[in-house]
Amino acid sequence: MGNERIVTALFHGIETGRLANTLLFTGPAGSGKKTLAAKVAQKLFCPDLCGRCPSCTLLAREIHPDYLLIGSEGGVVKLEQARQLKAFLSAPPNSAAYKVAVLENCHNLTVEAGNSLLKILEEPPAASICILTADSAANVLPTLVSRSQVYTLTALPRAIISGVLQEKKIPENQSWFLTGYSEGILGRVLELLAESDFWQRRQQMALEIKEVLARRRDPLLSSDNWQLFPEEALDLLEFWLRDMIMLHINPDYIPVNKDLQASLEECLANCPEDKSIALLDQCAQARERLQARCNPRLVFDCLALKMWEV
Ligand SMILES: [Zn+2]
Repeated sequence: MGNERIVTALFHGIETGRLANTLLFTGPAGSGKKTLAAKVAQKLFCPDLCGRCPSCTLLAREIHPDYLLIGSEGGVVKLEQARQLKAFLSAPPNSAAYKVAVLENCHNLTVEAGNSLLKILEEPPAASICILTADSAANVLPTLVSRSQVYTLTALPRAIISGVLQEKKIPENQSWFLTGYSEGILGRVLELLAESDFWQRRQQMALEIKEVLARRRDPLLSSDNWQLFPEEALDLLEFWLRDMIMLHINPDYIPVNKDLQASLEECLANCPEDKSIALLDQCAQARERLQARCNPRLVFDCLALKMWEV
């Protein structure tokens, strides 16, 4: 959804026999890379995309013998996955005219996996299509990028996201928040909607931010909670701080956390603009530390103490 131009280009390539053997789909998590890969496979297996034939049915159930999706444990592609790809593509197709293999997270390859993958792509087996996915082409080995046709999935406009939420009859307050918080990534919205505990965690997070900034709550107790869901806690805190900064600058701004505006206003009173900006900076540092596999408890202890400091 929202990337129709890419779909049209890919389908045109299939219809005219000009689809490359290796495709690279890039975009943030939840932007639809896997969905697009499955769509390409469906078009290759069933040009009419009928949705009813054995090919379409097996593909929809992710058990088509000529389609393989290779995820990667811990987000790192290792030699084992590259070998799995090679073994799958080397055998001739079972029922379809092509074999399609999808390898996720190609921005994160071990050296051995990268070398092995390059060899496969240099001499692709006949009738095989290899689809690589990554967060950004800039993070993929240049030698892999140069062998691929690259398609970049973009964030969707607000109107599309809010349209989907309206169709799902999501209450206005939640819909407003999700539209801002998802940053145009539909997969993120759908994931949050499927998670029944999210709203409660968010409510608790907002309460704790407010209490820590007001120095009414032990910051280390909050850190204990936040380090249990580190990525999400950072996301929520960052959006909260951005709202605060915007409200400091422009009191008429409609915050992403509109439904919790009273709590936001209370935070403004306890945390001036320069401190809000400094804390947003701290969040970015915390994210880098988490990515570098620092201990989440220490990362959040440090962050919560900065919030508590005057
Ligand atoms: Zn079909």
